[in-house]
Amino acid sequence: MTARSGRDAGRVVIIGGGLAGYSAAEQLRALGHEAPITLIDAEPTSYDRPPLSKRLFEDDFSVASLAFTTPERLTDLDIGTLFSRRATALDPGAASVALDDGTVVAADTVLLATGGRARTLPIPGADLPGVHVLRSFADAIGIRDAVRNDTRVVVIGAGLIGAELASSLVRRGATVTLVDPVAAPLAPAVGELMAEHLHTMHAAHGVDLVVGITAGIETADDHLTVTIDDGRMLDADVVIVGVGIIPNSSLAEDAGLDVDNGILIDSRFRTSANRVFAAGDVARHRAEDGSLRRREEHWEAAQLSGRESAYGMLGLEVPPRGAAWFWSDRHGVHLEAVGRLSGPGELIVRAGGAHPAVFLRDGGLLVGAAAIDDNNLVRAARRLIDLRVPVTPSDLADDTVSLRALLKAAR
Ligand SMILES: Cc1cc2nc3c(=O)[nH]c(=O)nc-3n(C[C@H](O)[C@H](O)[C@H](O)COP(=O)(O)OP(=O)(O)OC[C@H]3O[C@@H](n4cnc5c(N)ncnc54)[C@H](O)[C@@H]3O)c2cc1C
Repeated sequence: MTARSGRDAGRVVIIGGGLAGYSAAEQLRALGHEAPITLIDAEPTSYDRPPLSKRLFEDDFSVASLAFTTPERLTDLDIGTLFSRRATALDPGAASVALDDGTVVAADTVLLATGGRARTLPIPGADLPGVHVLRSFADAIGIRDAVRNDTRVVVIGAGLIGAELASSLVRRGATVTLVDPVAAPLAPAVGELMAEHLHTMHAAHGVDLVVGITAGIETADDHLTVTIDDGRMLDADVVIVGVGIIPNSSLAEDAGLDVDNGILIDSRFRTSANRVFAAGDVARHRAEDGSLRRREEHWEAAQLSGRESAYGMLGLEVPPRGAAWFWSDRHGVHLEAVGRLSGPGELIVRAGGAHPAVFLRDGGLLVGAAAIDDNNLVRAARRLIDLRVPVTPSDLADDTVSLRALLKAAR
C-alpha cells in the first residue's frame, strides 16, 4: 500500500490503453502507487482519436503523430504494456484477465477502459464494401485510401464526427452529401441556435445537406446508392456512417457485472464486482438512488474519468469535477462548449462578432456556454459556472462585457 492510499490496489491491470486507461495509469503513479501496472490494448500502441476525423488527409498523418505518450515515458513510469493483445475474458473473483493468445494475466485490481466501437445502421446494405465507420486509426486509413478528388461521399449522421469528416472531405476535394434525420443536429449539445449556425456552414463550404432517414444502401453498377425513406436516391462511391458509438462492455457483461448501455459504476468508479473498476467512454455512473447518468463520450471527460478512477482504485476521495467541456473543429473554425445548453433555463445569444456565442442561464446562474473561435470566453464561462457566480441576461448578451471581468468582480 502506498502512503497516500486507503486501499491496497496491488497489481493493476488496465484493459484499454486509450486516453482513459492511460490517464488512469499515469495518475496511479502520480499518487504514489508502486506495484506493477499493465496496460492491455488490442491496438499496436496508444493513440489519440480526435485527429482521426480532423487530420486524416494531412501528409504527416500517422499513428506515431497521434501518440499521447512515448515508450520512454511508459518506461519512466514503469508501466508495462501488452499491445496488439485482446482481452477475451475477465474473472472478477480472481481479478484475472485472459488474452487472445491464451495467456492469463493475474491482477489484484482491474480497470475496464475499453471505450466504444462505432455504431452501424440496422438497414440493408450497411455492411457492403465501400461503407465505412470511423473509430480507429485503421478506419481512418481505410477512408483516406478510398477518397480521391471528386470521389462522391455520402456521410450518414451529422453529429460531431460526421460534421468534422464532411469538412475534411470537402477540403480533400470530395463531393460530399451529409444526411441526418434532423435539420439542426447537435442541438442537445450546443443549443438550437448554435446548432443551426454550425450546420449552415456545411452548405457554405459546398456540402450538400439532406434531412431524412437512411432506409438502405445498395450496390448499383460500380457505385453505391443510398436510399432515403422519402424515396430520394443518393449516388456515392464511398459511404461513411457516423451515428455514435456502442460501449465495449461485453467483457463486463460476460463476467456478470451490472451493465446498462455502459458498465455501471458508482462515484468511486467501482463496478458491481469487487476489485473491478471502469472509466472512460465505456463507463456509466449510477447514483446512490439508482438513477443512471448519460455516458460521456468526450476527450476531456475520458481523461478526467481515467484520472479520477485512479483515486477510486486507491480508495481515496475522488476530486470533484466542474462543468463538462468539449471542442470540435470544422470548416476552419474551432467550437468549444461547456456545461449544458438544453433543458430548463433561458437561452441568451451574444451577437456582434463573426459568430454568435450562446449561453443558458437557469435560476440566475450560468449553466452552459458555447462559442466559436473564442476559447477565452468559454474558459471564463466555465469558471463562472463552476464558481456559481450570478450573471444577468444583459451582461451575457452584451459583447462589450468581458466574462473575465465578471469573474474578477465576483472574487
Ligand atoms: C474520430 C473521433 C473524433 C473525436 N473528436 C473529438 C473531439 O473533437 N472532441 C472531444 O471532446 N472528443 C472527441 N472524440 C471522443 C474522444 O476521442 C473519446 O471520448 C475518447 O477517445 C474516449 O477514450 P477512452 O479511453 O474511454 O476510449 P477509447 O479511446 O475508445 O479507447 C479504448 C481502448 O480500449 C481498447 N480495447 C477495447 N476492448 C479491448 C479488449 N477486449 N482488449 C484489449 N483492448 C481493448 C481499444 O482498442 C481502445 O484503444 C472523438 C472520437 C473519435 C473516434
